[in-house]
Amino acid sequence: MNKIIIAIDGSSSCGKSTLARTLARKLGYRFIDTGAMYRAVTLYILENNVDIKDAEQIALALSRITISFENINGQNTAFLNGTNVEKKIRTMRISHMVSEIARIPEVRRFLVAQQHVMGKDKGIVMDGRDIGSVVFPSAELKLFISASLESRTERRAAELIERGESITKEAVRENLKKRDLIDSTRADSPLIRAKDAIGLDTTHLTRDQMIEIALQMVKNLID
Ligand code: C5P
Repeated sequence: MNKIIIAIDGSSSCGKSTLARTLARKLGYRFIDTGAMYRAVTLYILENNVDIKDAEQIALALSRITISFENINGQNTAFLNGTNVEKKIRTMRISHMVSEIARIPEVRRFLVAQQHVMGKDKGIVMDGRDIGSVVFPSAELKLFISASLESRTERRAAELIERGESITKEAVRENLKKRDLIDSTRADSPLIRAKDAIGLDTTHLTRDQMIEIALQMVKNLID
């Protein structure tokens, strides 16, 4: 079967990672959560007290960072320099900083270069903010996912509470709004819908409906 690149973009907690992960599993494709890569860089910067205003410190930090993914018990798991950081990168501490780090052009260049390598053989579902617009502008299928702020807040708060974080919905809502603003207004690779991306609003869709709609689009392309 003809292997393709599927680019899934959208703001946080609109269901894009769930969609990307499930599509990849059903198609036997590789799944890459690029948000995890920006989160891993953020973790390194915080843990090593890197001054993000200092270009030399950023360059040195990036030269010391290796990010990889492994499948552990069926879960896509992020590793930073060989250490499993999946839990650490999902905390609010990282969410508060990540958009500031993701707007730094050197950080973006560093991660986009790795994303290009990951997609060179196709057969990949990659989710993020700039996949259809910058990383793989010629991806065969581009989806742009959206959902209301309320449904995104509910989803994100439930995830964090399940992981044992004590947070309020208000704090989660404010963090999503702040990240939306930084992500969509930054100069380098802002969150935008690529001209040829198909929009999908998941606010009133169940998880299964969202997956079925996207799967049908893929089947129309590869069958
Ligand atoms: O997808 P997730 O919410 O985990 O992404 C965390 C942050 O990483 C986003 O808010 C954004 O600042 C950044 N990001 C990005 N480009 C991507 C993926 C994520 O700038 N392709």
